[in-house]
Amino acid sequence: MSRTLDHLLDRNVAWAHHKTSEDPDFFRRMAEQQTPRYLWVGCSDSRVTANDVLGLDPGEVFVHRNIANVVHSSDMNVLSVLEFAVEYLKVQHVIICGHYGCSGIRRALADERGAMLDHWLQPISMLYRKHRSVFDAIPTEEARLDRMCEINIEMQVRRVAATPIVENAWARGQPLHLHGWIYALHDGLLRDLGPHLSSLEERDTLPSIDHRVLHPAEPVSALRRHALDAFAAPPSCCTPTTA
Ligand SMILES: [Zn+2]
Repeated sequence: MSRTLDHLLDRNVAWAHHKTSEDPDFFRRMAEQQTPRYLWVGCSDSRVTANDVLGLDPGEVFVHRNIANVVHSSDMNVLSVLEFAVEYLKVQHVIICGHYGCSGIRRALADERGAMLDHWLQPISMLYRKHRSVFDAIPTEEARLDRMCEINIEMQVRRVAATPIVENAWARGQPLHLHGWIYALHDGLLRDLGPHLSSLEERDTLPSIDHRVLHPAEPVSALRRHALDAFAAPPSCCTPTTA
């Protein structure tokens, strides 16, 4: 077995060459500054990479990832990223994106405890235990896991909204929108799960996460939204009138 990773370095050369051949100024622009409009808080899962699933180039999305996309109010890593993104890069959107079939969430639902990972996942485990009768009534293990993946995202959006970083941005009138999305590995599509939050007022009137456990919302993919829009009734201004 090779001790070096020349095959990866070779791929890097090929990638840089391809980029330059498509756009000779690409790296000069990248080196000058980054002006991303989005902060992505996602799972470390190797199959869910922000730039790829969003179809964005380097420089367009600022990224933080950890196991199960958890936002701990004591985690200096995520808080530093959030502060830098909001206060210096002035991103306009924070996307908390989890994914179905998340191994981190699967672990949070397991009875086995004791690894460092279990400390990390404790808020998810606690929510599961609190509402165990609701989750355990879901007929299959996979459906239960996917529901927990969804509710975790909703919980993490609320946690981002509760940080003083976001509160201060909203208080000074900075445009900042929080989104909860979920990604499906089987079709490569993102679904809009919510909540959407753009102000302190919206955050303060949001139903609690316990309420959301009891009243789930259906995630909507871009494809489904386009289909719904296509078949929606035309606005009244476009409706033919009988003269
Ligand atoms: Zn995951």
